[in-house]
Amino acid sequence: MKGENDPLASFWMPFTANRAYKAQPRQLVSASGMYYQSADGRQILDGTSGLWCSNAGHCRAEIVEAITKTAATLDYAPTFQLGHPLPFELAQRLAALMPDGLDRIFFTNSGSESVDTALKIALAAQRARGQGTRTRLIGRERAYHGTGFGGISVGGLVNNRRAFGGGLPGTDHLRHTHDRDRNAFSRGFPQHGAELADDLQRLVDLHGTETIAAVIVEPMAGSTGVLIPPVGYLQRLRDICDHHGIILIFDEVITAFGRVGGATAASEWGVTPDIITMAKGLTNAAVPMGAVAVKRELHDVVIESVPGGIELFHGYTYSGHPLAAAAGLAALDVYEREGLFERARELGAYWEDAAHSLKVGRHVVDIRAIGLVAGIELEPRPGAPAARATEFFHAAFDNGLLIRATGDIIALSPPLIVEKAQIDEMFGKLAELVERID
Ligand code: PMP
Repeated sequence: MKGENDPLASFWMPFTANRAYKAQPRQLVSASGMYYQSADGRQILDGTSGLWCSNAGHCRAEIVEAITKTAATLDYAPTFQLGHPLPFELAQRLAALMPDGLDRIFFTNSGSESVDTALKIALAAQRARGQGTRTRLIGRERAYHGTGFGGISVGGLVNNRRAFGGGLPGTDHLRHTHDRDRNAFSRGFPQHGAELADDLQRLVDLHGTETIAAVIVEPMAGSTGVLIPPVGYLQRLRDICDHHGIILIFDEVITAFGRVGGATAASEWGVTPDIITMAKGLTNAAVPMGAVAVKRELHDVVIESVPGGIELFHGYTYSGHPLAAAAGLAALDVYEREGLFERARELGAYWEDAAHSLKVGRHVVDIRAIGLVAGIELEPRPGAPAARATEFFHAAFDNGLLIRATGDIIALSPPLIVEKAQIDEMFGKLAELVERID
């Protein structure tokens, strides 16, 4: 074998500065509950639920057991033209958790696949309704919808356009809702910005109603900095969609499964979209899986539009994979039995106060917190190559705390089992770093 001596060389790491990482690698080797263990033997408090996904904490015994048992009895079974009981059972459980009416579930393997699936379902439903001219997809600036071509096209990140070009033709974008001038250090939902939803009306006026299939938004943008929707914004989008026959998709890959309180942000915040995308917390991240919940009318119109044969020409080899479905069922059991979504809601006020205690810190220009998620925005460092938040990320890790850094924003989203003392520990450590890092 040709081989290379450097054991780190072959793995091309995703969303990573590979050279910097490989010069100073930090690795996690085991996990339990609220903690990771690092390769150098330290306990790392998980302030981010991995990547916003291990909502019940790590290595939960009953999820491990469900996966192990299923691996030994049904390692794999196709769900094309065949089936096995687990995804049917999981779909029924999920349907019961979704807002009223969104009770048809399509399984994928990731958030990115859920987004592309949702966009395709929206296009198929518009065609099935006899609205085949509606092919335009609307996203939003500063949105992250994963890495598929659909997702990067409706997403709002310049890095995607710089690296991969303009994406799908026929997409357009609403402005983002982050307005620090008016909303900095808001508590709860920011007061200003509901009128930004009227961008959708402007795009209708520009392109013509008959060309617009769907609009997709994260009810709370997560990866791009915890951007909480202004009061009234989501309802205003809903109203414009209703008025013009536009399908409204909420990308709840981060917000579903308790992050902001309820099972979904839609149910917690009282605005019902037509389609919801999920992933991450669905299996407590123990096995990759995503899902798309679809309003029954949209499902039915697609199913009935095809007189015989396959109605939706779409799916994945691993849709409804037995191990993932078993993990999903066990995760839902844990969430339910331990009341973890309610716990996130109840801890919300304590969490928000703790987050806002950093307000006095140097370089802190905004703090946003809701449910069990928070974003701490730092002033950009003039002329410096690395964002300040990246330095925080490394220093926090070396101090036993996992945080997430994107650009100049630190994000926190701990497992929903977090204790108040651990919340204090997280913000205590960050307060020290705020004083230390220039
Ligand atoms: N949509 C949203 C809102 C996300 O936050 C993410 C991941 N952070 C994705 C889609 C993509 O999910 P995945 O990485 O599982 O493909």
